[in-house]
Amino acid sequence: MKHVVIVGGGFSGVRLARKLRNKRDIEVTLVNDGLDFKYCPALYRAAAGYKMGTARLSIEWMLLDAGNVDLVEGKAVDINPAKKTISLESGETLGYDYAVFGIGSENTFFNIEGLHEHGFGMKTPNEIIQLRQHLHDKLKNHDREQANYVIIGAGPTGVELAGALGDYLRRIARKYGNHHHKINIWLVEAADRILPRSTEKTSNAAAKRLMKLGIKILTSTKVEKETLSELHTNNGILKTDTVIWTAGAKLNSFFEDNDDVFDINERHLVKVNKRLEALENVYVIGDSSSATNGLALGAIWNANFVAKDLLRRTKKKPRKAYKDHKPISVIPCGKNWAVAEYSGITISGYIASRLRKIADFVGYMDIMGPLRALTIWTNTDQLEDK
Ligand SMILES: Cc1cc2nc3c(=O)[nH]c(=O)nc-3n(C[C@H](O)[C@H](O)[C@H](O)COP(=O)(O)OP(=O)(O)OC[C@H]3O[C@@H](n4cnc5c(N)ncnc54)[C@H](O)[C@@H]3O)c2cc1C
Repeated sequence: MKHVVIVGGGFSGVRLARKLRNKRDIEVTLVNDGLDFKYCPALYRAAAGYKMGTARLSIEWMLLDAGNVDLVEGKAVDINPAKKTISLESGETLGYDYAVFGIGSENTFFNIEGLHEHGFGMKTPNEIIQLRQHLHDKLKNHDREQANYVIIGAGPTGVELAGALGDYLRRIARKYGNHHHKINIWLVEAADRILPRSTEKTSNAAAKRLMKLGIKILTSTKVEKETLSELHTNNGILKTDTVIWTAGAKLNSFFEDNDDVFDINERHLVKVNKRLEALENVYVIGDSSSATNGLALGAIWNANFVAKDLLRRTKKKPRKAYKDHKPISVIPCGKNWAVAEYSGITISGYIASRLRKIADFVGYMDIMGPLRALTIWTNTDQLEDK
């Protein structure tokens, strides 16, 4: 019997645990620093008033059918490759035959003054609950004529949120009788165009759509400071009391704390070999690995490979090398409209929005199987009162 310790119950970790479920001669311990799974692609929807239950899932429920997987709530703080042990913050030590780290990235505000105190992050369900509460509080007690809502970062998350936020704000304003409340949504980006990692065609299509929805786009604009009522940028000051930060990710600090063990490359990712191993018998997959593409789909592909590699090793079969694939990206901008890009080809409009619906189902299915996925997926358009 081989003991596989998976650290991180996100896309890569849960996918791997599911791929190894009920396999003979393998027992799995999955360690996560909480009992919830963050389904990040649905966080923008939760921030726009849709059911939080489609973004925050129970890991235990996702692994109900995995008899050989033991879920441990805990935070890994240290690894000893010589003794093949991982230490948790609680003081517990886990021995492993193979260890797999899928612990993702961490949020950073890049030390921009005031942003941490006054801005709202949207990388965790808790941050989103705080944001929603703030939006309600601001419209509940004041008859506001108008307000500026500022989203910083025009990557996929910022664009998705910009497209969805207006409807939510109008709904809240109506709820509290603020019928004349004028909503100004600003999308602020440091690069010279939105979706800077996509092709220009994709970027232009999304910009055109957002402008049609009334979103004000500020590119080549770097945020310098935030106060309670203003956002300071290199292009001037914006009056606002709602700033949502969607930019900024950095390497998980576990690797920085263990940099005597792991090699970190110039992109601040953990170097892995062609079998996604950072050290002998220790794999690093998902967002913290040098084999990442920064997407959930990349984390899933990494996990699929490691599952096969582990099974080959336990069956003493020859091992293979990891092959990267070209991802498809589909970015919704408001209801029934999205822009999709694959291999340099862009399509946009209603059909792309249906593609995203399908991609969401596949995404849920990858981490919880088809039946559970259907339960969640059929509720992704449900609104919440709060
Ligand atoms: C807001 C947002 C929207 C996104 N939208 C999309 C999208 O639409 N499409 C797409 O493809 N990708 C999207 N992504 C990216 C995608 O979510 C990531 O690529 C994916 O989650 C990476 O998977 P992972 O397994 O590496 O890490 P994660 O899924 O982040 O999982 C890491 C897990 O490890 C846990 N952990 C961290 N440190 C420790 C520790 N020391 N000990 C124990 N547990 C630990 C974390 O709590 C977490 O549960 C989005 C990301 C964000 C933040």
